[in-house]
Amino acid sequence: MNMYDTEVAEGLLQNQGMQILSSFDETAGTLPGIAYSPFPEADVILMNTCSIREHAEERVFGRLGLLKEAKRVQPELIIGLMGCMVEEHREKLFQKYPHLDLMVGTRNISELPALIEEVRKERKQVARIKQEGISIEYTDQIKRAGSYHAWLPVMTGCNKVCTFCIVPITRGSEVSMPAREVYREASRLVDDGVRWITLLGQNVNSYDGRKAEDGRRKEGQNPSAAGLHPSAAFPELLDTLCQIEGLERISFTTSHPSDATEELYRVIAKNPKISRRFHLPLQSGANPVLKRMKRLHTYEEFKQKIDSMRRWIPEISVTTDIIAGFCGETEQDHQDTLRALGELCFDDAYIYKYSTRPGTPASKLADDVPISIKEQRNRELLELQKTIRQRNNEQLLGETFEVFVEEISPKDPSQLRGRTQAEKTVVFPGPQSLLGSFQKVKFRALRHETFLGILEAEPAEKAHL
Ligand code: SF4
Repeated sequence: MNMYDTEVAEGLLQNQGMQILSSFDETAGTLPGIAYSPFPEADVILMNTCSIREHAEERVFGRLGLLKEAKRVQPELIIGLMGCMVEEHREKLFQKYPHLDLMVGTRNISELPALIEEVRKERKQVARIKQEGISIEYTDQIKRAGSYHAWLPVMTGCNKVCTFCIVPITRGSEVSMPAREVYREASRLVDDGVRWITLLGQNVNSYDGRKAEDGRRKEGQNPSAAGLHPSAAFPELLDTLCQIEGLERISFTTSHPSDATEELYRVIAKNPKISRRFHLPLQSGANPVLKRMKRLHTYEEFKQKIDSMRRWIPEISVTTDIIAGFCGETEQDHQDTLRALGELCFDDAYIYKYSTRPGTPASKLADDVPISIKEQRNRELLELQKTIRQRNNEQLLGETFEVFVEEISPKDPSQLRGRTQAEKTVVFPGPQSLLGSFQKVKFRALRHETFLGILEAEPAEKAHL
């Protein structure tokens, strides 16, 4: 979602005549040359922030501290924040960081150019953080990173109450975009050359098109006059989008187990355009922990969902999220999570140590697993999952897959990079004329999580879509 918001912000600013210079290196712990200024040629430095884990916030606080020096060297520099940290901390950040000029809430991105102008003219701290509405901007001014792939948010917010999670605080309750507007935006993207769309939402499979229409009516809009199409739920939305000619792949993230239904699996199974990667967060394999997390299911119920999904869509690649060391997690709970990873054989898992998010229900529970134990459990989970991933991936070696050729490999211009229907990344030698086409690629080796492949047959011509 943040990547999409960043693309919107970049597009809006570029459209106002600003030039996008550079991005912070996300892998860097510090900003090189910060003692003088990270970007001496920049007039504005904006950080789009995430609150989901303490570590992400600490990095932003660290960078804000370092930017104080940049501001001393360049007094005209405008420093701004957008994203979930703005929603969480609000104007308090102005007191803590007097050199911070600008804060833009997740529902106010369209106002960014005007707010920058306001800071420039009046040289005062400016914040615009709206509490209501939807944080989705469909705009043809977006500066997309790729030619063939686009993010497409369809809903934001969350009505679940997972006790560890800050999303209901930072992104608010669930709000969906009307299906007809999603359809129109997807069609516009396809007209613009996009072939693969990833539908986004904090709880994407809770998408509710009917409520979205009701919302439009309350705003005084007539749905039929606006050409809105009634669609009740996420499976129908997916089914409808599959009808767009020229749209070749549709992915979606992130789903909640409660809304992972047989109806959704049925729609995926019958539509080859829908990605065969399904990300379904488990968080823990221990029922007492799942209960404290308020995940609304037991491990056994989650497993039934995965079993059913694999029956409907045998080729599905399932990935998950796991939290290590949640409040009150015992050694037995941890062993149950290890057992769950072994049983469910996810293709991949995002595994993180638990950190308290202020304001969440879990912040009232004792964060009682010592950090050394959290680290050890995190390591054990990562090591097990690495073995499972490696084993799953090795089973694909020697097989041939249809691959959508997305880009020239950033590391080697003689190689192309693409993704299979299950979103396995493969790099293979081939001419640039294949960009934007589907090709049959044989997986011959593995380098970390990336496959190395070879075109099954030399293409005579680019297979135009
Ligand atoms: S369903 Fe996801 S976004 Fe919603 S509260 Fe739970 S973890 Fe957070």
